[in-house]
Order: sequence, then C-alpha cells, then structure tokens
Amino acid sequence: MINVAIDGPAGAGKSTIARKAAAELGFIYVDTGALYRTVALNALRNGVENTKNAEEVIPTLKTAEVSLKFIDGEQHVFLRDEDVSTAIRQNEVSMAASNVSSIPEVRAFLFDLQRNIAKNNDCIMDGRDIGTVVLPDAKIKIFLTASAEARADRRFKE
Ligand code: C5P
Repeated sequence: MINVAIDGPAGAGKSTIARKAAAELGFIYVDTGALYRTVALNALRNGVENTKNAEEVIPTLKTAEVSLKFIDGEQHVFLRDEDVSTAIRQNEVSMAASNVSSIPEVRAFLFDLQRNIAKNNDCIMDGRDIGTVVLPDAKIKIFLTASAEARADRRFKE
C-alpha cells in the first residue's frame, strides 16, 4: 500500500490538496479529525460532562467502535452502525473533540485505528502526528505551508 502523509500549519490548504490528489490517484483521503470528533460524540452521548477529564472520557473508549466507509470517494464515519458524518459537525462536538484530543489514551486509541486504515488502503492522511507518529514510514511526506496572509484568509472564509 502507498501512504502519503501531509503535515503543516492550519490553513495551509492540506485537506484541499489531499482531497484533490486522492481523487486523481484513486487513493482514499482520510480526514483524521473526524475520528477525534466521533470519539467526542460518543463521550457526550455517554453522559460525559467534562470532556477534558481523562477519567471520565477513557471508559467511553470501550464503546467507541469507530470505522470509516468510502461512498463515491467520500469519507463517511460510523459509530457502531450509525453514520455520524453530519452529527460530528455540531459546535458542541467540535469543542469536545478538541478536549478529548489532548488525552494521550484517546490519541493512542486512534493511532492504532489510523495505522490499520493505512495498512489496508492506498491513502493520503493529514493532521497532527500523522507524519511523525502514525505513518513515520510513509512513502511520501509533504510539509505544506502558505503565507500567513493566505492561511488567515482561508480560515476567515471557512
Ligand atoms: O480537523 P478537525 O477540526 O475536524 O479536528 C477535530 C479535533 O481533533 C481538533 O481539535 C484537532 O486538534 C484534533 N485532531 C488531532 N489530531 C489529528 C486530527 C485532529 O488532535 N490528526
């Protein structure tokens, strides 16, 4: 399998480039943020009140059965049998995702999942820790950056 890892600062256009390149190459593009969002959604649904609190969040990993499916080249993320691709975009989940992503056990849990996806698919991945921890042996590693103005402009439009 061929794995491509893209690293670089927020707003540089990593996911835009990754999506286009993946479509052209017939690879899958893995939006790793969606995985953190799904773990966060599962924690919220399990009644976790403080998503920064590792002691509350870690037990919910037992029921965080997260998987990806690619439908017409688009990534859909599943929590058990439910397609949660839309549900994970709520504001509340964005904040919770940021909180749970700082818990080392959550990161370790998702590292394994991401490595498995990479082992079984030609893929392009971007996001924190991808080139260094998740895919240190990726065939191609790209560090993508852009001017501060272009990055700020992209975030503003988003
Ligand atoms: O990119 P997105 O907003 O969907 O990411 C959701 C959360 O997951 C963010 O807080 C981000 O920092 C975290 N994340 C991460 N490592 C990744 C991808 C996302 O910690 N590889």
